[in-house]
Amino acid sequence: MSSGQTVLRATALVKRYRRTLAVAGVDLSVDPGERVGLLGPNGAGKTTTLMMLLGVVRPDEGVVEIAGHTLPAERSRAMAHVGFAAGYLPLPERLRVREFLTLFAKLYGLAHPGPAVEEALDRFGIAHLAANMGNELSSGQRTLVGIVKATLHRPRLLILDEPTASLDPDVAHKVRAGLARICAEDDTALLVTSHNMTEVERLCQRVVFLSGGRVVADGSPDEVAAFFGRDDLEGVFLHLAETEGERAR
Ligand code: ADP
Repeated sequence: MSSGQTVLRATALVKRYRRTLAVAGVDLSVDPGERVGLLGPNGAGKTTTLMMLLGVVRPDEGVVEIAGHTLPAERSRAMAHVGFAAGYLPLPERLRVREFLTLFAKLYGLAHPGPAVEEALDRFGIAHLAANMGNELSSGQRTLVGIVKATLHRPRLLILDEPTASLDPDVAHKVRAGLARICAEDDTALLVTSHNMTEVERLCQRVVFLSGGRVVADGSPDEVAAFFGRDDLEGVFLHLAETEGERAR
């Protein structure tokens, strides 16, 4: 299933915020081409984990290694292999989509920014939006442009935080197809958070559930559902949300 060196290896990550143990010893490895969902109820530690993987939050304990580069010492080299997009990241209002993407293609140091932008627009079927200004886009279109931006430099690891939260079902479908194609063609690894379990079942071959800052399950959607004796990921999510709620009380 996988080839080559592990893209992401996080070992024994711990992060404390005053009295809260946000992440309590997380191990996570992702191989090239793998599509992995990082799931769990609110407060489970997903965002804190993602921020540690991106080198934005420094772990109290543990090690993050991306494409063989260890954070924080080799963060720049590691991040050259990472694309990140989230529904909540803003786009400049007074730039056209093509200008915005070209700017990032240049920032990424691509040799041929123009063709890379056109290819990326085509890949996700949004060439018709290229001349639109940021402020002319719907929130779903903005999310989509953010994802296209994150794939411009053909990263080895693509991290997406709630990538399709504001998308119509047909656009979400397009995004999933585009992502699956990138992972298959480029061997890009995908790590994605979502609250939409149906979507995760469609996009990810593997899911990692966090609860209380710990990995409580790691496997295919079917394996994880069976492990908890539930019919599907929705059932697992609801079960864990209940547990998390009881812990918080
Ligand atoms: P999730 O993304 O799964 O909802 P988070 O990683 O955001 O979970 O949060 C995990 C726990 O850490 C929660 O209890 C949250 O309140 C706490 N937490 C997260 N970030 C901070 C912060 N900057 N300061 C204090 N507590 C935080």
